[in-house]
Amino acid sequence: MVPPPRTPRDTMSDDRTLDAAFLGPLGENADLLERLVVDALRDHTYWRRNFHPEDAPTIPATAALDPAYQDVVARTSHALHRLAADLKRSVPWFSPRYVGHMASDLLLPGLVARILATLYNPNNVSEDAGGPAVGMELAVGRQLAAMFGMAHDPSRDPCAWGHLTSGGTIANVEGLWNLRAVRMIPLAVDAALAEQGYTVLDDGTPVGRAAGSLANLSIEDALAFRVAALRTAASERGAAGAAALHRSIEAARIEAMGHRTFLERFGLHDPVVVAPASAHYSWSKAMKLLGLGAAQLVPVHVDAHMRLDPGDLEVVLDRLAADARPVLGVIGVLGTTEFGTLDPIDALVRARDQRAGLGQAFGVHVDAAWGGYLASLFRAPDGTLVPRDALSERFRYFPSAAVYDAFAALAHVDAITVDPHKLGFIPYPAGAFVTRHRQLAHLLTESAPYVFDEHGTPDVAAPPDLTALGRYILEGSKPGAAAASVHVTHEVMPLHVDGFGRLIARTIHACESFFDRVRSLAIQLAPVATLTVPFEPDSNVVCLGVNPVGNADPATMNRFMRALFATMSFTPREPLQVHDFIGSFTSIAPSRLTPDNRARLCAELGLHDDDGTEAVFLLRHTLMNPWLLRPMDSERDWVDGYLSFLQTAVERLCSTDRARWSA
Ligand SMILES: *Cc1c(COP(=O)(O)O)cnc(C)c1O
Repeated sequence: MVPPPRTPRDTMSDDRTLDAAFLGPLGENADLLERLVVDALRDHTYWRRNFHPEDAPTIPATAALDPAYQDVVARTSHALHRLAADLKRSVPWFSPRYVGHMASDLLLPGLVARILATLYNPNNVSEDAGGPAVGMELAVGRQLAAMFGMAHDPSRDPCAWGHLTSGGTIANVEGLWNLRAVRMIPLAVDAALAEQGYTVLDDGTPVGRAAGSLANLSIEDALAFRVAALRTAASERGAAGAAALHRSIEAARIEAMGHRTFLERFGLHDPVVVAPASAHYSWSKAMKLLGLGAAQLVPVHVDAHMRLDPGDLEVVLDRLAADARPVLGVIGVLGTTEFGTLDPIDALVRARDQRAGLGQAFGVHVDAAWGGYLASLFRAPDGTLVPRDALSERFRYFPSAAVYDAFAALAHVDAITVDPHKLGFIPYPAGAFVTRHRQLAHLLTESAPYVFDEHGTPDVAAPPDLTALGRYILEGSKPGAAAASVHVTHEVMPLHVDGFGRLIARTIHACESFFDRVRSLAIQLAPVATLTVPFEPDSNVVCLGVNPVGNADPATMNRFMRALFATMSFTPREPLQVHDFIGSFTSIAPSRLTPDNRARLCAELGLHDDDGTEAVFLLRHTLMNPWLLRPMDSERDWVDGYLSFLQTAVERLCSTDRARWSA
């Protein structure tokens, strides 16, 4: 149930700190953007001239007089005009009239940094191609880790590390790649030790443990086992012995042998990954891509709030334990793509820690592609967690106890996906992968596992040299301009409650206000249609279902919803202005809900839940535009404006336009 609303201390809608941070719906800050971009362009040119000012000009000034030169200039101008014309049919993310997908206006610091850095074209595959942008990328990784509460001081272990990807999809693939590597490596280490004739490690660990127990070491224990093995080899047989063991381990790994040979060798069943039914489809892609098989992605039910059901997780894990299936990881979603709902990350961490003690280990990867930046609200400038009471004062409902506990637990998960190009308001492409275990990077590279100290002794526990980024990650050449963009944004708006948190707070205020006003709209629409919010918003995404009065048939409601969505859908084939507002939709397939939840949803909408084959079509609103609570005209803000647009559309479909949906 929704608790009674509090009166927020300060809704901050008049706070001017964000006014300089965006170009603005009408380009209000055009002069500022122009000044910054022109400054950037000029500065770049001076850089070129100062490289070797003694060089003679390569392109003579007279070239511009040549017809061939002029022809290229003319064709360039023409092509750019065409492009500008074509781009005008793009999605107007910037506008408060856009409440659809997970994008909005771009933060100006990030946008200008991106343009400026693109002129230098840094390639963050490595430091000798990316220059200073590689350091920025690694710093961004530490900033994100700090926002999540993970240890991030590179001078000591344990230390998190993170880097940018092209998006959440790649970060998720990388999460799985890391999980497979670390969860399966103890088997390879043990086999290699046996092969090289070791019987016991210096720390007393015996060689030759059962495969079932090697496949159930926690991530920390797995990493420590590998280091202890290399250390034993180095101390007993010197650098050559450590190198020989390393080669042997690499050859015995699942990545080297292939799944079938590896699993047969150790007599293991196919490993699985556990994820809520609400997980993004990139997880299924990742399972296919890594050859684990989409069938090995085991679903957990979601509850009535569209959050992973911890009770069902226990049932699923018990069954997997009984079947001796190694569990690579359990995925939690922090901000489902369709509903913005947040899984109980604290429950996943508890389950991981309890089960590791019972001989069933797994990692916890949080897919916070959407919700990751919400964590900035929970972090005080001094790095501590903001107490729940202090946060609650600022909002009407947020954060519920469940939501607060989920964010507080992020410090303890194993890895996190977060998309700066979603709730970070950064240009595409910018996703990120962050892991609490820097040492994991050693498992992903082909190069030597250790460095030598000044005495020539191998240091098998040395931190990885992360400036050679491309060695440890999925991608090769990649835009350093993305790193520059995120880095500058975080510098202007640090990842804490008084920095980036102000922007995030806006999105939540807009959502709370939207939610309250939807409930009054539901009362006004009651004579013609049932309007419901099927899942209370956990953050800043709200879905709505609308069913005309008198209809109990899911298929008919879906036709109605499609007709309603047609009044606010975007297509590049129509002039942008044909719709006053633009939204998005989602449909919930019956397979993604438990029968109970499906029945509840149908009852709320006044539908009978016949054979349960029909998906339920919903309007989906991402309320991330920073200006939604600013005036649209003299009487209304943008939320009012949208809801009265919606009211008119529903009333019209229920009267004059009935033919558009009724059979
Ligand atoms: C958007 C999203 C993804 C995919 O991220 P891309 O940046 O689009 O590749 C993955 N998981 C969740 C929860 C998302 O919201």
